Amino acid sequence: MHAKIIDGKQIAEEMRADLSQEIEALRQSGVTPGLAVVLVGEDPASQVYVRMKGKACEKIGIYSETIKLPEETTEEGLLAEIDRLNNDEKIHGFLVQLPLPKQINSRNVLLAIMPEKDVDGFHPVNVGKIAAGDTTGFPPATPFGVQQMLIRSGVEISGAHAVIVGRSNIVGKPMASLLVQKADGANATTTICHSRTKNLPEITRQGDILIAAMGVPEFVKADMIKPGAVVIDVGTNRVDDPSTEKGYRLVGDVDFEKAKEVASAITPVPGGVGPMTITMLLYNTVQAAKQWAGA
Ligand code: NDP
Repeated sequence: MHAKIIDGKQIAEEMRADLSQEIEALRQSGVTPGLAVVLVGEDPASQVYVRMKGKACEKIGIYSETIKLPEETTEEGLLAEIDRLNNDEKIHGFLVQLPLPKQINSRNVLLAIMPEKDVDGFHPVNVGKIAAGDTTGFPPATPFGVQQMLIRSGVEISGAHAVIVGRSNIVGKPMASLLVQKADGANATTTICHSRTKNLPEITRQGDILIAAMGVPEFVKADMIKPGAVVIDVGTNRVDDPSTEKGYRLVGDVDFEKAKEVASAITPVPGGVGPMTITMLLYNTVQAAKQWAGA
């Protein structure tokens, strides 16, 4: 079997085209969605992500602010900035880029963000809303993007057994929360696996939809996949590759070359889940602006 490749870049572009129309309609009614990103310190990877988020906003017509704070910022100082953003009418959603310097407790920071502006979806109020199927909550971008990829690729989710490998709060757990809901684009039977799961291959082989979010390069082999399954690879891992200019390449958690002979559809890395993540952040920001405007 030759699996269909689920093209995250293309789906992300389609979603951004739809979103830009919504943004234009909001602007016509006097509301420009606004997103702020707070960056504390000089972490190089974070700087790249923050720049990408700002550019994506600019391209689509979302007002954006990047707030750069020095590495030595105190927790109090950051909380004061969050308080300002909670009360800033131009900003409908914001996030604090992780990781934070060690003098700052990231849980205190997360709890200080007003849930209505928590477009990353990590505040306990949003976690609870997603678990309860309350559509006013903001789902975390990565699992939300995976759900949209499944829906937009025409994958039958209802009644399917979705097996998720990974139980993190940012991917695995919210992924299961989204897919198990009694709702359109959901109604799956869900199983979450992790490093203590016994007989992992036996369970992954039951998945009509298999979602790998472990952070272990090419861990999921072809014989762990049910023939005809839809495979979504969230993993983004750098592996050394002296033959490339950068000296490394990106691989997923799935052995892509072999897996595509068994699966009916599969996401590549890069070009799969990755491009969806920022798109879903933009999507959540637009929803936040709509909720704020009562639209
Ligand atoms: P975490 O490290 O927080 O979680 C990894 C999970 O995988 C844990 O639950 C862990 O189990 C489980 N796991 C690890 N090894 C095994 C194993 N051998 N067998 C079974 N389960 C295992 O990672 P994240 O959820 O943050 O990220 C997962 C991957 O997704 C990473 O590669 C990350 O880079 C990528 N990612 C990609 C994004 C994108 O935009 N494309 C966004 C976010 C993440 P346990 O809990 O028992 O330790």
